[in-house]
Amino acid sequence: MDKYSVLKQYFGHDAFRPGQESLVDAALSGRDVLGIMPTGGGKSLCYQVPALLLPGVTLVISPLISLMKDQVAALEAAGISAAFLNSSQDLEESRRVWSVLRRGGCRLLYVAPERLENQRFQELMGSLDIPLVAVDEAHCISQWGQDFRPSYLRIAAFVASLPRRPVLAAFTATATARVQGDIAVRLGLENPERVVTGFDRPNLFFDVQRPGRKKLPALLALLDQRRGKSGVIYCATRSAVERVCQELEVHGFSVTRYHAGLSEEERRSNQDGFQFDRRQIMVATNAFGMGIDKSNVSFVIHYNMPKNLESYYQEAGRAGRDGEAADCILLYSDGDVATARALLSRGQEGQPDSLEMGRLRTMVDYCKGGGCLRGRILDYFGQSHPERCENCGSCRGVYTESDITVPAQMILSCIKRVRDRLGYYVGAALIVQILRGGGSRRIKELGLDQLSTYGLMREVPQERVRAYLDCLEAQGYVYTDPEHATLRPGGQAGAVLFHGERVAMVTRVEQEPAPAARQKLAASLPADEGLLAVLKAERTRLARREDVPPYIIFSNAALTDMAAKAPKTMEEFLEVSGVGQVKAQRYGAEFLAVIAGYWQKK
Ligand code: ADP
Repeated sequence: MDKYSVLKQYFGHDAFRPGQESLVDAALSGRDVLGIMPTGGGKSLCYQVPALLLPGVTLVISPLISLMKDQVAALEAAGISAAFLNSSQDLEESRRVWSVLRRGGCRLLYVAPERLENQRFQELMGSLDIPLVAVDEAHCISQWGQDFRPSYLRIAAFVASLPRRPVLAAFTATATARVQGDIAVRLGLENPERVVTGFDRPNLFFDVQRPGRKKLPALLALLDQRRGKSGVIYCATRSAVERVCQELEVHGFSVTRYHAGLSEEERRSNQDGFQFDRRQIMVATNAFGMGIDKSNVSFVIHYNMPKNLESYYQEAGRAGRDGEAADCILLYSDGDVATARALLSRGQEGQPDSLEMGRLRTMVDYCKGGGCLRGRILDYFGQSHPERCENCGSCRGVYTESDITVPAQMILSCIKRVRDRLGYYVGAALIVQILRGGGSRRIKELGLDQLSTYGLMREVPQERVRAYLDCLEAQGYVYTDPEHATLRPGGQAGAVLFHGERVAMVTRVEQEPAPAARQKLAASLPADEGLLAVLKAERTRLARREDVPPYIIFSNAALTDMAAKAPKTMEEFLEVSGVGQVKAQRYGAEFLAVIAGYWQKK
């Protein structure tokens, strides 16, 4: 068998995706590889295809135990013998796996890195033929990246302890240049074939919305437009998860939740509920993460801003793994910055380190800085890109421009007068309070209610004043002193105050994101929506029967292609992308019957 027949027969794909083939070729020829591919890019295939062509068992090191069960189930569903060893198994199960391994009846073995330290496991591995060791989520080896896992550092020593050095293959989705270098050094990759297919996920629509205090109504509106779809809502804290989850329940959404405060049992059962499509929406903290391999997540909404762009992209990137159009929307409010800063300061004696603060600033720039959002993400990962992506809220937004010279003068003058009165500058929050005629004790004690600018913007909603301030800051009319967090006039402030320089504010008119993007991305053949719904129902039925998550039977992309091609014979069924020999044998007859029945009724 060659690589193309493995690709077609087991996985049902006609061609390799960009980057996959050279990684497969390198591994087959005995060369180490480093594959940096976006989520959903198809990293697993890069070691699974060689695993089926090389003699012996390929060892896959993967960070999360919860992931292994599904990965192995997916391989078994495609007719590939695979197994995992981890602490969730009882003795009997692991004995069974050991004996299968000794018999040579297993092509891929998944383990967590911690297992490599186990003496008996090392002995067993030493006695087997291991041609390839694949390291998934390889960025966990780097302290510079997210999710550092010290046990990843032991991989190199483990590999060196094997009687014959296997090919080492490392994969990750998110790695800056620094992290990539770190992976190669710490794993001890030898002259690896390095493929970076880019970080872009064209099927994801990115947007940032600023609903001010109306976050919850904004969230409900977004969810209303997405009824029937599966999605994740990330919150910064456990209490926010509880609150949001409760609200959504009250509004009749099918939700579940996940955070570190829940018992392990409840976490597992809630995660399963989501994976198996029994619940459509998962509300979670960032504790809900790497274990998620669900391919049909059609939106990820951040209820709070995460602490850096790397985390954001990783979390948002859990949408649309199946290649279907999906939305990543961040609901920003200024309060999120304070929350993020507080979370970063934890355990740091009140002062987050400057590296973390720098990353936080980049995150805030993403939310407030304007310009193409995808461009900002790709800039962060050092990848070049066109100026506009045409598939983010910024590029697709409709804008209006208004003259804000008068409110700008009020704000600048207020900053100046407060400074004249007190002899020092104060923070933005106090300036907003004074302008809006707030009655706090501090204002009275300092005599700031006597200023001529006091209450000048009484009629203007707080969010609006904040928006003016952001606009002035973006244009350099004011700036925040990083040391004291006070608001100061910028170099051009005088021109506005004394020479009538005009200030303009460009505002986005909020609009529902994405429908046009969806059309653009639709498969080349349009799928019959009615048929697609029927196929999905059949998938759910089979998934229940076999007690596996639905996407393990077929991905959404496979069903969409099936609905477009509407096969009538087994031969045509095998033409559907994602349908291999074993799946065709297992499920072909049932799906063909459903398709035939659909046409009869129509
Ligand atoms: P990653 O691990 O990079 O996030 P996966 O390996 O889970 O991505 O693959 C994502 C999806 O892409 C899966 O549904 C898989 O079936 C599909 N896929 C992978 N390679 C191909 C290919 N060559 N042709 C079509 N689909 C593919």
